[in-house]
Amino acid sequence: MAHFSDFALHKTIQQAIHDMGFEEPSPIQEQCIPKILEGGDLIGQAQTGTGKTAAFGLPLIEKMTNRNVVQAIVLTPTRELAIQVSGELRKIAKYKRVHTLPIYGGQSIGHQIRALKQGVHVVIGTPGRVLDHLRRKTLKLDQVNMLVLDEADEMLDMGFQEDIESIIKETAAERQTLLFSATMPQEILRLSRKYMSNPETVTITRKEVTAPNIEQVYYKVFERSKLESLCRILDSEEIGLGIVFCRTKRGVDELTEALQERGYMASGLHGDLSQAQRDKVMQSFRDSTIELLIATDVAARGIDVGNVSHVVNYDIPQDPESYVHRIGRTGRAGRHGIAMTLVTPREMKQLRTIEKVSKTTLQSRTVPSFEEVMERQQSIWKEQLIALMEGEADVTPYADVIKQLQAEYPAEKIAVAALSLAFSSSVSSAEEEAYDFGDTGASKGMVRFFLNLGRTADIQPGELNKEIAELVGASTKAIGRIDVFENFTFLEVSQEIAPFVYEALRHSRLRGKRVNIEPAKPRTKRNK
Ligand code: ADP
Ligand code: MG
Repeated sequence: MAHFSDFALHKTIQQAIHDMGFEEPSPIQEQCIPKILEGGDLIGQAQTGTGKTAAFGLPLIEKMTNRNVVQAIVLTPTRELAIQVSGELRKIAKYKRVHTLPIYGGQSIGHQIRALKQGVHVVIGTPGRVLDHLRRKTLKLDQVNMLVLDEADEMLDMGFQEDIESIIKETAAERQTLLFSATMPQEILRLSRKYMSNPETVTITRKEVTAPNIEQVYYKVFERSKLESLCRILDSEEIGLGIVFCRTKRGVDELTEALQERGYMASGLHGDLSQAQRDKVMQSFRDSTIELLIATDVAARGIDVGNVSHVVNYDIPQDPESYVHRIGRTGRAGRHGIAMTLVTPREMKQLRTIEKVSKTTLQSRTVPSFEEVMERQQSIWKEQLIALMEGEADVTPYADVIKQLQAEYPAEKIAVAALSLAFSSSVSSAEEEAYDFGDTGASKGMVRFFLNLGRTADIQPGELNKEIAELVGASTKAIGRIDVFENFTFLEVSQEIAPFVYEALRHSRLRGKRVNIEPAKPRTKRNK
């Protein structure tokens, strides 16, 4: 097993990795980082979500000097990715004086020009805007000795080939060129032959794995209400012992704290704990003092506890292998176990990959509503109270308080106060996902969307219906009328799945093209 400490990375960067909560390098990182540090050109191919950003980001930041010129440029297909990559590089450079700047269309160019003037070492940009700056001479790339083409397949899909070539020509000839992509179409290989010198190729392919024969389900959730969704799921399940997986150590700490605050008996387990601390956590898990163990993949690796009833993937696993590892913690020795995976709209593709590679199908489940959870909680409280009343509860410590209060307050009021004191921490909140698409001119119970792709992009109603149903794991019946025009499409879906469809499509591509989706405007009488 590789460690980040195996790499020739300065201690400031090791410290930053630690702060980011990464425990061990992902496969693409393990193979790419030493090669990039050595200096050669490299092509890295691995699926989305496998950590390609840090694979080039760590050696890139390592190589930056304090010379006040642009020394590296990263090209990304979209503004979101530019911001995201820039954010990750900034975290890596936390203890090193390296200035990074995302530049993309849509943001004021004046602002970017001022920021560039202040001295920037690494530029992360979309091809169009970078070219714009080059033409205005507000950005110089002649001192760039590292060029990264990130998500290269998407950049080519989006028609950036010529822009990319113009940009490459502006960089220093003796630069190091890195190319990362999830897929390797011919055009990418052509581009690499033209602009890279003897590139080494690192490809992370998947081993086929077999998922254990246990119940496997998934819940569609939204990033910003994931914690609330998890709590509702936990509250509606009969959990003996559960292991909840997070991607990073920091994620483990945050989730553990949030769950503890809400009254769950949870403890975190990750590589930063001392052996003694770990033993203590494991002991309380084994003897059921805690019911939820929040862990990273690495920490959970040697765990052998026989009676785990639930494995919850709070963060979807990065690859099918780790999925199989995780869920194998339950259903031991013929006991019943269930594995639950929380999936956000942009992670649906990852879920499908996991299903394909591990040859399983996960059943879709709906996150229980506030009312459902409430109903269940109330019946639990009632049972607990009845058990106490029927049993031999010791009233002595409370008798005086009750007597004194009864002199001034009605019994019902006292009971309410006592119950809220006892149970308030376990009341889940009613906060709902706030998606309001407004009036979209849809039929009743539906939401109508506008898509920027139509017949010219080869969109056909029947196929689109099936694709969307598959993308969001919904029945084709939940998708209503589809009107395809020359260059755009109107699409109706049921209100229940509308937010998820919206988020999922916003983050995907159809026929190789990026989808732009908006709630439709209500039809006016005139153009009806
Ligand atoms: P890709 O570019 O391959 O799609 P990203 O670089 O965006 O993937 O990484 C996906 C997520 O995984 C990010 O949230 C990132 O911070 C996280 N990540 C990357 N490397 C590691 C690691 N070694 N350990 C834990 N999390 C990681
Ligand atoms: Mg990426």
